[in-house]
Amino acid sequence: MEVLLPRSLDEALEVAQAQPDVVPIAGGTDVMVELNMDLGRPETLMDISRLTELQEWRREDGHLFLGSGVTYTRIMRELPELTALVQASRSVGSPQIRNRGTVGGNLGTASPAGDALPVLAALDAEVVVARSGGGMRSVGWREFLLGVKRNALEPGELILGVRWRAIRGPGSFSKIGTRNAMVIAVASLCLQLDEDERSVRVALGSVAETVVRAGEAEAFARGALMDAGVWDDPGTTVDAGAVERFGELVAQAASPIDDVRGTAAYRRHACAVLARRSLTWALDDRREGAA
Ligand SMILES: Cc1cc2nc3c(=O)[nH]c(=O)nc-3n(C[C@H](O)[C@H](O)[C@H](O)COP(=O)(O)OP(=O)(O)OC[C@H]3O[C@@H](n4cnc5c(N)ncnc54)[C@H](O)[C@@H]3O)c2cc1C
Repeated sequence: MEVLLPRSLDEALEVAQAQPDVVPIAGGTDVMVELNMDLGRPETLMDISRLTELQEWRREDGHLFLGSGVTYTRIMRELPELTALVQASRSVGSPQIRNRGTVGGNLGTASPAGDALPVLAALDAEVVVARSGGGMRSVGWREFLLGVKRNALEPGELILGVRWRAIRGPGSFSKIGTRNAMVIAVASLCLQLDEDERSVRVALGSVAETVVRAGEAEAFARGALMDAGVWDDPGTTVDAGAVERFGELVAQAASPIDDVRGTAAYRRHACAVLARRSLTWALDDRREGAA
């Protein structure tokens, strides 16, 4: 096997263009597992983990850009205000995996259980990809994540990073697994309140072919918060029946399967529980913030 070590992003893009079958390796926490398990033996690997161009994050025009090579450990250290993304990062594997694993790798693998992905979906992130010669395009997360381990990356392209409008409001990521750490999600959920749009966003992981948003539940929650006057007065409460209904609607957005980690029925139940908890946490955060 050949391993290429490009010295710059331009060089890496040229290689990707000239050899579309080359497999980029960032942290290697998915690629090396595939190799070790003999699930694939690419002729050429291209190590992109040293490309500083992919390791930057920055704020620009009210947006945040997160380079594909930023690791989970760095997100936890450098971007503590991104509560949901930090919680998702903290739940990935072990410290060793978080030191190497990147958000770009999570997008590259496009597993329905990728922990960063529900957060990116709730943030309505765009994936920025590039090819040699300066060609760049932004692809909405819905168009990028096509199915189980399928994404919209074309031969010759690399993921530069993700970009989203900075959102004001509480958010969280929660995950149910068969144990407390080093675990693939049986179900995961990101809930993000957007104070400016007065909206509630909910994305689910591990309960469909790819990440899904719970549109009907989002509309219901937005209305329930409006009816209760919570957007204007965080001290007001939403009644328990509405929180319960929200959970049911979130569960309906899932289309899970039975597998070794859990049954479809358990996954639906898990979605409702995570949804009720997350909404309650968000409302508590707002109440405490206002107090
Ligand atoms: C023990 C263990 C525990 C784990 N636990 C979790 C967990 O709890 N949650 C979770 O979500 N994941 C988990 N993973 C999976 C893995 O750590 C994540 O998916 C991680 O985000 C992969 O990032 P990476 O940089 O290591 O990707 P790599 O393995 O380097 O790459 C993954 C894929 O993305 C492609 N790729 C990477 N970067 C780019 C780029 N810039 N442009 C184009 N393609 C690119 C690669 O070619 C490859 O196809 C675990 C893995 C292990 C081994």
